[in-house]
Amino acid sequence: MYVQELVLRQRTEILNALCSSGSAEHLEQVLDILLSQGELIWEDYQNIQVPGRALYTNARHLLDLVYTKGAESCRLFLAAFKHVLPEAQGVCASSSGSCSNLEEKEEYKSSSTQTLVTQRPSLVSKLQDCIDGALKALVISGHFTSADCDEVRLPIHTPCQQARRLLDHVRSKGESVAKVLLEYIQQIQESGSALKQEKWTPPKEVIKFQKKLSSSVSAQSCFLSTYGGTSHMSLEDIYTDGQLELANTSVGVHGPLCLEDIVGTVGTVNEEADTVLVSGEAGGGKSTLLQRLHLLWARGAAFQDFLLLFPFSCRKLNSEHRELSLQELLFQHCCWPDREQEEIFQFILDHPHLILFTFDGLDELKQSFSDEHRLCCPTQRAPAHILLFNLIQGFLMKGVRKVVTSRPEAVGPLLREHLRKEVFLKGFSPSGIDCFVRKHHSDPTVAAKVLESLQTNTALLGLCHSPVLCWIVSQCHKELLGCGEGSLQTITDVYLMILQHFFQHQSSLKPITGVGWLQAHLQTVLHLGQLAFEGIGATCYIFSDTDLKTCGVTEKDICMGFLMQSKDMSSTHSKCYEFLHLTMQCFFAALHIVLSDNTDRSTIPKVFEPRRETGLSSKCFMACLPSTDQQQQASEGEATATEKPNMQITATFVSGLLSQRHRRLWLNCCPTAVTEKKVRQVVKFLSKGMQKHFKSIPQPVEGEKKSMHAMPGFVWLIKCIYEMQESRIAKDAMSKLEVDHLKLTYCNIGPVECTALAFVLQHLRNPVGLQLDDNSVGDVGVEQLLPCMHICNSLYLRNNNITDEGIRKLLAKGMQCENFKKIALFNNKLTDACTQHFSQLLKTKQNFLSLRLGNNNLTEEGAKQLAEGLKCNHSLQFLGLWGNKIGDEGAEALASALESSKTLPGRQWCGECRSMRRRQHYQEQYITGRALVDRELHYQIRSGMSDSSPRTQHSYEISVVEEQ
Ligand code: ADP
Repeated sequence: MYVQELVLRQRTEILNALCSSGSAEHLEQVLDILLSQGELIWEDYQNIQVPGRALYTNARHLLDLVYTKGAESCRLFLAAFKHVLPEAQGVCASSSGSCSNLEEKEEYKSSSTQTLVTQRPSLVSKLQDCIDGALKALVISGHFTSADCDEVRLPIHTPCQQARRLLDHVRSKGESVAKVLLEYIQQIQESGSALKQEKWTPPKEVIKFQKKLSSSVSAQSCFLSTYGGTSHMSLEDIYTDGQLELANTSVGVHGPLCLEDIVGTVGTVNEEADTVLVSGEAGGGKSTLLQRLHLLWARGAAFQDFLLLFPFSCRKLNSEHRELSLQELLFQHCCWPDREQEEIFQFILDHPHLILFTFDGLDELKQSFSDEHRLCCPTQRAPAHILLFNLIQGFLMKGVRKVVTSRPEAVGPLLREHLRKEVFLKGFSPSGIDCFVRKHHSDPTVAAKVLESLQTNTALLGLCHSPVLCWIVSQCHKELLGCGEGSLQTITDVYLMILQHFFQHQSSLKPITGVGWLQAHLQTVLHLGQLAFEGIGATCYIFSDTDLKTCGVTEKDICMGFLMQSKDMSSTHSKCYEFLHLTMQCFFAALHIVLSDNTDRSTIPKVFEPRRETGLSSKCFMACLPSTDQQQQASEGEATATEKPNMQITATFVSGLLSQRHRRLWLNCCPTAVTEKKVRQVVKFLSKGMQKHFKSIPQPVEGEKKSMHAMPGFVWLIKCIYEMQESRIAKDAMSKLEVDHLKLTYCNIGPVECTALAFVLQHLRNPVGLQLDDNSVGDVGVEQLLPCMHICNSLYLRNNNITDEGIRKLLAKGMQCENFKKIALFNNKLTDACTQHFSQLLKTKQNFLSLRLGNNNLTEEGAKQLAEGLKCNHSLQFLGLWGNKIGDEGAEALASALESSKTLPGRQWCGECRSMRRRQHYQEQYITGRALVDRELHYQIRSGMSDSSPRTQHSYEISVVEEQ
């Protein structure tokens, strides 16, 4: 009875453990075991595994069945469950006695078909690597037809599922077929791993194709396109590692990843999916990262588990208007095999685990991801985007690993369902910036000067975390070093600098000083601006000769270097062009909006509010869209997933260009009255946008604080206000915000966003709690936040890559801020080098309430320093130190500091401080702090009060708890 109850009581946990990954594999493995044990008959199996039915429903049927079958069935089920998911925490933990050993049923001298059942779990695992070989053996023996093979090899199934289908198919065909299969498996076992054999001897024509493909990939990836116009910088010389992190930290892996981890097993959330997403902002280095991956593969330096790598650019797929088969897509878009195309394609289909596809810039595809058109047949023709969507979902080329890059905005929940994992590319780290600048400048003194000037302008240093901006800043080092300290503040400033830089370097005109340079090149700006603007409206990034002509772009304009020739797309008859980078296209689109007389009154609203308005209708480029898309866009009246982020970047530039600081640039280029009207429009939209966010704040429940959780678009609005650099607008916006707590967790906040936030939030009328947990603030970001410290009563910066240096600056400012009372720094990179500052804070700030430093690298020295501060502090109510290594001595120091404290709440309990109380379990871990010591011992430090307890029961304790 007991095990039956257990299955019933733990139903939810069991179901979640079996199904929450979205993969059917765990459930199927349990079923395999139960079948092999004879606990399930085929009828049961078919009633449970109903194709197309939800995974959870199938699992519920299994639970119902074993429950009704009785205790023995439940015992076997739990044993199978534990066998498949030994790590399932907490599930049937107390059933250890009942989960007896699971042994495969002994092989009696039984028939071969019976063996297929009794040995099912191990046969599935042996077969999954040699399905093709087994099918071949069955065909040769005359037992299988090609239709049988196709049925087994359906590409939507994983290798394990194919193995199960094969076993079931063979069993239904009878004894002699089963015998052939068992003999084949035995043979394979004896002659070593089939997989290895396959890997060692790819057919000759495949090897030849591999050579051709790798030399083409190498040629395409050895130079960086942004350096094309000015210098040929090899990728190898300039490539600098960006910061890669898993999007899903709940899988237990924290910290940086390396390039190889992208295709490795680390952080996998869905074993059955093949697609890995690398997401990051525009200019964050996604294309360059793929380029590096391609080059390493092509040169044999990494990713050698893959025999063939097919690189695709979604930007280029936009220009594919034909319907294609998968084979045509691979060979025509990547590399054409000189001979034996059919054989090579068949090899690809047969060896999915040896193939890697990469798709750069999914956000640039005209069509948003959809799962409506399902395609399983590799020979059927379809539009390129349908092929792509089916590849991503695994309906085509199941088992081939696919790496896709995109800006995060373009990835919806529908696509996320099909992801093996998601990795964030977060731009350069501070040391990455240093490294990049040194690589960029062969002269070390120039590099040192650039770095020095970045250190004096931390707003600009913050911008350099974005690789594209770091490239511009390095490229324009002369302008940078020539301009006054701190004069470059915003992204618009940086793009204006490169605009001027290119004009001065490429033009035959003498360099023009003052603001006249823009006027001298106005025609070029207008031509390129129109091209960019129209392109954004039509999701078009590659332009034909005709497009250029339509917008009046001349040969001279092209020579300025903002456009580059598209590789692969240009033929001898006509050339194709694209902007050096997407952000450059957005910048020119913004210049068009600001400078052109032709933009109508509705242009600014369309850019700032693309959701409500239809997308920018473009005269010439709409023709590029297939008619169905045109209708769709027109009828939906909504910005597409791609259009919106482009609009947002463009709008940010428009705000910057219309800022007071740059208005004199436009004086001789367009009428002042027109510019002023545009400014008023932009200001109105920013203010309205902010108010919309404020209106969405729910009224607090009585007794609770009023809290606002940033909605999408909030940070972007803040950035636009920052680009305008007018305190008046920031003040006006903040005067209407009345909240106690501002939550911006998981909002992709880096140093740039911190600069903008501080610029705006410093004008708040009342102090707030600012919650920035789980972002990438870092030390540079912390420094950027200082101007708004006076308005923060609590600052939450958990998991933000902050080191002692950031803390030093933060606390120096914090000590002067009366309102500043709480800080949370769980999971950063703090060491004992920062505890003296906290100690000082505790000594000087006698209204400080809460200090949470869990999961850092503090040791006993740090704890002793903190203890010094605690001795003199009269206000602290919470101290969190879980996950540090303060050791016995550190704990003793803290204990004695707390004991001698005369003013801590509950001082009357000091005498009862039970230092070093040993416990068998740590139930209280959620309400207190824990610190990891010597691997197994946890120090628990609590100094606080329970809201419900009377004041006299305020207590603190230090105890050692032992993990079970
Ligand atoms: P994204 O694809 O995310 O928009 P890109 O990869 O096109 O960004 O990067 C824009 C520019 O930034 C590149 O052309 C290059 O100049 C620079 N860059 C990006 N990543 C790196 C890197 N890892 N090392 C060196 N330069 C980089």
